Amino acid sequence: MARYTGPVCRICRRAGEKLMLKGDRCSGPKCAIERRNQPPGQRSPRRRKVSDYGIQVKEKQKVRKTYGVLERQFRKMFREANRRPGATGDNLLRMLELRLDNVVYRLGLAESRAQARQLVRHGHVTLNGRRADIPSIETKVGDKIGWTERGRKSKFYEMSRTWQGSRQVPGWLNMSDPAQLEGELTAVPAREDIDMRVDENAIVEYYSR
Ligand code: SF4
Repeated sequence: MARYTGPVCRICRRAGEKLMLKGDRCSGPKCAIERRNQPPGQRSPRRRKVSDYGIQVKEKQKVRKTYGVLERQFRKMFREANRRPGATGDNLLRMLELRLDNVVYRLGLAESRAQARQLVRHGHVTLNGRRADIPSIETKVGDKIGWTERGRKSKFYEMSRTWQGSRQVPGWLNMSDPAQLEGELTAVPAREDIDMRVDENAIVEYYSR
């Protein structure tokens, strides 16, 4: 299945909440959820009782779309999360949070996860000093994230510089060299570090059917 390239605000309207897919626009009055919080394609939304299965699908889709992961890859991640020790739901969210594109976004080097993915894919990002162009790489504690020479010449580097300071970097990351826009992973994120309202148990139930 190809990556979704349609209007992303529809995804938020379908989920019924802000998934912060568009960067700064998401915090402003132009956000579609602020203006019209109803499912897309329905003029008069009917209130229906949602089944347990419906809730599970909704939670799964919400997380998958937030991190921009395709179904097949997401299912693979779930299997791996299930294999690891600990709670599967926590493992899954942690694995998503540790993806290289998400770390780039969380460090404030990109406006959105989609832009972070683009930065990585286009070879603008380094991991421990070497170019890394696979957004799904799972980062580890001690990993250093920076820019390639090409990245430093790109418009994204300048854009990223303009909003530094206004972005809150989570506690498990550290902007170790703000002048060079380089950061480091200092800890593994705990569940409470992941600021997402999601019922991960519903996702576990969905895939355990
Ligand atoms: Fe979602 Fe952002 Fe669009 Fe608002 S502006 S609906 S949060 S993607």
